[in-house]
Amino acid sequence: MAVFDSLKDTINKGVTAVSVKSESLVESSRVKSAMGSSQKKLDAELSALGVKFYQAWKAGEAEGALFADDLARVRAIEEEMDGLRVRLEQIKAEEDKILGSAAKPAAQGGVFCTNCGKRLLPGSRFCDECGTPVG
Ligand SMILES: [Zn+2]
Repeated sequence: MAVFDSLKDTINKGVTAVSVKSESLVESSRVKSAMGSSQKKLDAELSALGVKFYQAWKAGEAEGALFADDLARVRAIEEEMDGLRVRLEQIKAEEDKILGSAAKPAAQGGVFCTNCGKRLLPGSRFCDECGTPVG
């Protein structure tokens, strides 16, 4: 391995163990940092893969039998979020009913952020709450 060849080289030149250790430390932190960024890429890919698979399964385009429990958990969270979104609409509707429709800025309904559920302003390309791109 190239790293250890270069360390052996260093020892042959009579440099102290301390500098060998420090070279090793530098090299291993370089490798750890690369591992960290690979891990981040891996996590992002796996997460995207999960989303794609879930959507395909929901559309009936993927066999989900092996992942039935996981899919059920995801669906339960999605339904929970649907419920929360409805609740948000109700709160807004109750508020409008109490305050009257005079101060109501936009038409009812509209588009909601898929991430945080905030009502999006017409023509928004990003959620102004959490920054998630729109549709
Ligand atoms: Zn949002």
